[in-house]
Amino acid sequence: MDASVRVRFAPSPTGYPHLGNVRTALFNWLFARHTGGTFILRIEDTDQARKVEGAVEVILNSLQWMGMDWDEGPFYQSQRLDMYREYGEKLVNEGKAYYCYCSSERLDAMRQEQIKLKQPPGYDRHCRDLGHEKTGWGDSAVAPVIRFRSPLEGKTVITDLIRGEVIFENSTLDDFVLLKSDGYPTYHLANIVDDHQMQISHVMRAEEWLSSTPRHVLLYAAFGWQPPRFAHLPMILGPDKSKLSKRHGATSIDEYRDKGYLPEAMINFLSLLGWSLDDKTEIMTCEEIIKNFTIERVSKTAAVFNAAKLEWMNGVYIRNLSPQEFSDRCMPFVKQALPDMVIEPGYMQQIAPLVQERARVLAEVPDLVDFFFSDKLEYDSALLCGKLERAQAVEVLNRTIRALENIHEWLAGDMEAAIRPLAEGLELKAGPFFGVLRVAVTGRTASPPLFETMEVLGRDRCMARLKAALQKL
Ligand code: GLU
Repeated sequence: MDASVRVRFAPSPTGYPHLGNVRTALFNWLFARHTGGTFILRIEDTDQARKVEGAVEVILNSLQWMGMDWDEGPFYQSQRLDMYREYGEKLVNEGKAYYCYCSSERLDAMRQEQIKLKQPPGYDRHCRDLGHEKTGWGDSAVAPVIRFRSPLEGKTVITDLIRGEVIFENSTLDDFVLLKSDGYPTYHLANIVDDHQMQISHVMRAEEWLSSTPRHVLLYAAFGWQPPRFAHLPMILGPDKSKLSKRHGATSIDEYRDKGYLPEAMINFLSLLGWSLDDKTEIMTCEEIIKNFTIERVSKTAAVFNAAKLEWMNGVYIRNLSPQEFSDRCMPFVKQALPDMVIEPGYMQQIAPLVQERARVLAEVPDLVDFFFSDKLEYDSALLCGKLERAQAVEVLNRTIRALENIHEWLAGDMEAAIRPLAEGLELKAGPFFGVLRVAVTGRTASPPLFETMEVLGRDRCMARLKAALQKL
């Protein structure tokens, strides 16, 4: 236990959270829960141009759906603009940053020139030593930006908890912008001011931010603040080893929810994208993951996303649910897919165990069970016969109907005992014989176990369906 651990998830609402974002949130949350520390949620919404309407809500919902509760926040950077501005001006006053008045035309021309000369991109420090004063601010037409006075030489060394020492040549860093002319801070400034103010002890984030870290370390030094510890999480790649994208079946987390992935399966699956308990354990409860989660066991090498494994894992979690729990979780999916049907929870509880073994995602369930609700079975009479002659199929149905009329209790076992011998009497194999009944009762060739299905459907509906099948022939 280390209650001094304070970690944060700091998404930018520039899109809906994808697997990578949620993996970052999860690792921070697991670390906080493992150590007894604090998990903070901070919305980094200073990029006005790239802001996506509704993204914050989706982020909050996704975290809640997965059970990642936060202890502080959400804090919104857009509500703290004055503070960032003060910090930016403080650095200017101390000579560690400066006002830059370069026009976008000048910067464009500079960039073109750099491309032509095959020079690395970056600000050419035109205003660095001009000693500009502030002449306007915010929406003023002559508002400057504030740039950081990066050291021209030397090295910045980062000791990353996952990657070890990473060394950056300061000469590769340009005088990056801290405050934009609209008065909004850049990611770099707002991020480190907040991490400092919120007393973040560990910054755990995706590897793509590693290249920003030397800038952050220099900023901490300029303010005279102690930097947090850094841990850059490994990339997530698709099976073809390219950067993970929609192409690999990796969509936003709310799409997984809508397809009927279970949050506990998502937690388990995502925890293994870059972390492991040992070389073999795959299925772990959230409590087990929390108990064992340490940064030491986060890997340096990229993790590979495997959609088939996620589906398999979800199936394992579905089968491990109690029948009641499975039924409850199916309800919203079935209701949504069959809006015209009355879905009684009690009836659903009888149906659910018949498909629990087969479903890999909950959104598959309505297709597996719709014939329990709708009596309008649409199938072709050819499907009914299968490989049998029409006359044989008629005989199968007639004899079955007769046998069932004598059944006292509508129980799967009794029905099976009465019907199975009929196949022999007709010199038919069980497969084709039951195939006729299956299509008659369910309208399809693949269904949950036939007699259990008939028991749940009840005598009246089964008899009506068998007779309707006879009519079709
Ligand atoms: N706002 C950044 C993001 O969207 C945060 C990066 C960081 O954690 O420092 O991922």
